[in-house]
Amino acid sequence: MKAAVWYGKKDVQIENFPDTHPGEGFVKARVYWCGICGTDLHEYEDGPIMISMEPHPLTGIKPPVILGHEFSGEVVECGKGVEHLKPGDRIVTNTLYTCGECYWCKRAQYPICEKLGGIGLASHGAFAEYIHVKASQCYLVPPEVENDVAALVEPLAAAVHAIRQGLVLEGDRVAIIGAGPIGLMAIQAARAAGAGQVFALEVAKSRRKKAESYGTIALNPPESGYERVLLDHTNGVGPDVVIECVGAPETGPMAVNLVRRGGRAVIMGVFSQPSTINFNDIVFTEKEIVGSLCYVDEYEKVLLLLADGRLSGEGLITGRIVLDDLIEKGFQELIRNKDKHLKILVRPN
Ligand SMILES: [Zn+2]
Ligand SMILES: [Zn+2]
Repeated sequence: MKAAVWYGKKDVQIENFPDTHPGEGFVKARVYWCGICGTDLHEYEDGPIMISMEPHPLTGIKPPVILGHEFSGEVVECGKGVEHLKPGDRIVTNTLYTCGECYWCKRAQYPICEKLGGIGLASHGAFAEYIHVKASQCYLVPPEVENDVAALVEPLAAAVHAIRQGLVLEGDRVAIIGAGPIGLMAIQAARAAGAGQVFALEVAKSRRKKAESYGTIALNPPESGYERVLLDHTNGVGPDVVIECVGAPETGPMAVNLVRRGGRAVIMGVFSQPSTINFNDIVFTEKEIVGSLCYVDEYEKVLLLLADGRLSGEGLITGRIVLDDLIEKGFQELIRNKDKHLKILVRPN
């Protein structure tokens, strides 16, 4: 079958990859669509970052590995012992491999499992015609949700998880730093959770426009006075929760700075360098800082919210390409025209 295989930094080959029958407890699915994630781009440009060069302890797989984890597909074959799925079922898959045995797995804190691995990094992913996934990790896609939108469930689950990490309650004021794909999904998730007011801080004008179309007040941080504007809109208090979705040296401290006293700063961005905060800003304000990684049980909730329209793929898909064009019209295009794009979806043929 055709697949995009990661061999090393700047070395992803579209090639013929051997395919087999699904193992016990696994299903084989034909891939409908697979979205390009920042993670894929980082592995292509600077990897290995999350890819391990040693066999992963839970999957036994090491590079060369097929990339891609934001996918929807259709079951074509079931392995031994699979009873709740059948060929023709439309599915999405929780992409995390977890050990089920460590201290954190026993507390259902799966994203911080000692042996955490992911599809398309620690096992073969969905930039391919077919993918093999654990049946127990699959969710049926409801008829209201189209195949392309279903490929957004993985990042939407991460966005919903961040809103839950922030303990956003009905009527809360929420500020989202960064209105890229994840930031825009976090905006939707905050509104679905009942946030009273949502602010978006974003430098790119096109992304601010998109954020405004989701009912937010969008501000450009480099323009002086954005802190004042936020205070003016919040009775001089500041937002209850700030979700950081960028990962730049200035945006982590910005999240802590902007959140109201006693509020929560949720950090979702992935940082390539450290930055500094004064811990007195935490002590004297009783602010909380909390990380957010992947998801726990948000898949089913996201599918329900997509089915009833409280979450949507509206405006998030900015490109559709075929697997043969992954490098040029996918990775390179996202590097060259970052602000023009949100999600580029890839189909095998
Ligand atoms: Zn992703
Ligand atoms: Zn574990």
